[in-house]
Amino acid sequence: MTELNIAVLGAGIVGLTTVLELKKEFRNATIDIIADKFYDETTSFVAAGIFRPPTGDFGVNENVTRMWIKNSYSYWDNLKSSSDAEQLGAKEVCGYIFSKEYPHIVRNKYLESLVPLYRQATDEELKMCPGEWKYGSYFSTLLIDPTKYLKWALNKAKNSDINIIKKKLESFSEIDRKYDILVNCTGFGGKILCGDSSIVPLRGQICKVRAPWIQNFFYGDNDTYIIPSFDNVTLGGCRQYDSYNTEVSILDYQAIRSRCENLLPSLKKAELISHRVGLRPHRIPLRMEKEYCNVKGAKIKIVHNYGHGGYGVTTAPGTALNAIQLVKEMLSERSKL
Ligand SMILES: Cc1cc2nc3c(=O)[nH]c(=O)nc-3n(C[C@H](O)[C@H](O)[C@H](O)COP(=O)(O)OP(=O)(O)OC[C@H]3O[C@@H](n4cnc5c(N)ncnc54)[C@H](O)[C@@H]3O)c2cc1C
Repeated sequence: MTELNIAVLGAGIVGLTTVLELKKEFRNATIDIIADKFYDETTSFVAAGIFRPPTGDFGVNENVTRMWIKNSYSYWDNLKSSSDAEQLGAKEVCGYIFSKEYPHIVRNKYLESLVPLYRQATDEELKMCPGEWKYGSYFSTLLIDPTKYLKWALNKAKNSDINIIKKKLESFSEIDRKYDILVNCTGFGGKILCGDSSIVPLRGQICKVRAPWIQNFFYGDNDTYIIPSFDNVTLGGCRQYDSYNTEVSILDYQAIRSRCENLLPSLKKAELISHRVGLRPHRIPLRMEKEYCNVKGAKIKIVHNYGHGGYGVTTAPGTALNAIQLVKEMLSERSKL
């Protein structure tokens, strides 16, 4: 039997989750991860890590989106209940979403059918935080701390004989011909590598503060969120369309702090730990696709799995499973080569 060689491009949350699932499926294959950035250099490191899908579709249709979200939730829920939960940074969190604007903002059709608890906020709860909150929900969901998970997943990959190759790919033509198939999880890097104009940076900035008294998450209008993690609380945020700025903006920081402190005044005494900035790989729909790519007269098999926008933690496992299904299909499509 000939040996199967697979390369996963990208070592963010999408690439690492995909590689671990691939190894389960193809135990005897040789699998490499090729990436130029790891751990704290990735966008994944910046994420607050809350499992909160968008209210609209980001797959080709609602069924696909729902399948990704359902499979992701069950993956994270299993890890949360495992003995590694603390080490990999998965736990359940509960909290509120409030809005002064529209009732639909506090509803989420995907979460409501998935999580154990999703209910309307009571009149008393609507008065809990300053502001004239008109609509609100209280729900449970999962939190995955990417700073823990990325470390755990990379170690697990190394311990599973997955080779780590640090390299920036300028084009697919640089890929070694030994690979039978590539899985492209390059996030925002897909824009340049694939010449994909559908992918747009959606700049985000957050800060981490010390506020151990905050146990619930809180969402308000205008991208305001307060999310307790393991040893810090994330304050956010912003979504700046087509911005390539990866520098910390003090103006954004001041605006974030002020919005969060208006929502929860006790945050005024929270000590600042750090700032983080990242470019979300925004693409609708996310690219989940097979491609036979012509490189110097040869055809390379590629499965694309990138463009997770602001939802890479929420959807990495579900999209990884979908990508593996496409890998299996492509490997059996010998006639097309
Ligand atoms: C402020 C902020 C808060 C967020 N909060 C959340 C949240 O709470 N929940 C949630 O679900 N999502 C959240 N997100 C979104 C989430 O961070 C992204 O969706 C996710 O990180 C995308 O992961 P990725 O693995 O696709 O990309 P990345 O983490 O960017 O990884 C891409 C990988 O590809 C490699 N690569 C790219 N191009 C090349 C190349 N040419 N050659 C070699 N290697 C290459 C990189 O080196 C890197 O290893 C947030 C994002 C931001 C910015």
